[in-house]
Amino acid sequence: EPKLSGKFETLMTWVDGMRKLKVRTNADTPKDARIAVDFGAEGIGLCRTEHMFFEAERIPAVREMIIAQSLEARMTALAKLLPMQREDFMGIFRAMGERSVTIRLLDPPLHEFLPREEKDIIELARTMSIPVDDLKARVDDLQEFNPMLGHRGCRLAVTYPEIYAMQAQAIIEGAIAVKKEGIDVKPEIMIPLIGSVKELAYVKSIVTEVADDIIAKSDVKLNYLVGTMIEIPRAAITADEIAKEAQFFSFGTNDLTQMGFGFSRDDANKFLGEYEEKGILEKDPFQVLDQAGIGKLVKMGCELGRSTNPDIHLGICGEHGGEPSSVEFCHRIGLDYVSCSPFRVPVARIAAAHAALKEKSGDQVRDK
Ligand code: PEP
Ligand code: MG
Repeated sequence: EPKLSGKFETLMTWVDGMRKLKVRTNADTPKDARIAVDFGAEGIGLCRTEHMFFEAERIPAVREMIIAQSLEARMTALAKLLPMQREDFMGIFRAMGERSVTIRLLDPPLHEFLPREEKDIIELARTMSIPVDDLKARVDDLQEFNPMLGHRGCRLAVTYPEIYAMQAQAIIEGAIAVKKEGIDVKPEIMIPLIGSVKELAYVKSIVTEVADDIIAKSDVKLNYLVGTMIEIPRAAITADEIAKEAQFFSFGTNDLTQMGFGFSRDDANKFLGEYEEKGILEKDPFQVLDQAGIGKLVKMGCELGRSTNPDIHLGICGEHGGEPSSVEFCHRIGLDYVSCSPFRVPVARIAAAHAALKEKSGDQVRDK
C-alpha cells in the first residue's frame, strides 16, 4: 500500500501546521479508508452507499424491495440487507478509528437497480411469486426519462422511508458495536439531494426516530450528527432555512455544477471541449470549481447557513474538494473541511496550506 515517507513526510508536517482547512476523504470501503488515513485524511467526508447495494448477493433483495408493493414484502427484503449494511459500516468505523465518518444515505438513480435481462426478470418474478408480466409492468412504471433529475437521493426516502430507516439502524447499531470494542466512533449521517427544509425535516425524522430509539435502549452513550448535502441550487438559496434542521452541510459540487449550469454530468464532455477551445469556458467546471457562478452558490450557502446556525459545520465533497484552485476558494470562504478521493488527500493538504500562506502574505484577502 502506498505510504508517504521520509523527507516528504517532514514537509507534510510543516504543511499541516500551516493550513486551516481540515482534509477528509471520500471512501466507501475499509481499504480506501485505510489508504486515505495513510495519506493523512482526518475523517471521511463522504461515504457513498450506492455501490454496496449492487453486490451480487444483495442486488436480488434490492430489486425485490423496490418492486414490491406491500410494505411487508419490502421489510422482508430490507431485513436481508440490514446485517450486510451493519458489517459495511463497522468495517469503515474500525478503519477510521476516532475520526469523523460521514455516511451518505442511498442516492441512486433508481433505474440502475431495475432488472434488465430476461433471466433476471424471470428469476425475480419467481422469488416474489408474481406473474412475469406483472413484474415487467412494474419495472416499466419505475423507468424514468430523466433519472438524474428524478427518483433519486432523499426523494427515494419520501417514497420508500423504510430504506433510510434500515440504513440508520445499520449505522447506529454498527457504531454502538464498534464503540463497545473501545473505539470512540463519530458517525455523521448525511441526507442527499435536499431541495427544501420541509423535505429535510421529513427525511431527518425517519433517521432520528430510528437512531434515538436504538441509542435509548443501548447501554452505550453514542453521539451522532445529522446533516445534508447542499447540491441543488434551491438548497443553497434557502440554506438559512435548511440550516435550522442540519448540524452540517456538505456541498456536493458535482450535482451543484450539473444543476447550476444545466450541464449533464454524464454527457457534457460531448461539447465542453469545444467550449474550452473557443474560450467560452476557461476550464471544465466539473473539474475546477466555477468560482464566478457555482462558487457563489457555495459561498451564499455558507453565509446563509451560518446566519441561522452559527455552529454549523461546513465542508465540500464534490470532485472539487481535491483540486488546488477550488481548495483555495474553499479556504477563502471559510469552509471547515474539504473531502476528496484518497489519492488527492496530499494535494488537498498542500493546497490548503498554500491558501493559508497566500492569505498571510497578503496576496489574498479572506472574503469570509
Ligand atoms: C456531488 O454531487 O458533488 C456529490 C459529491 O455526490 P455524487 O457525486 O455522489 O452525486
Ligand atoms: Mg450528488
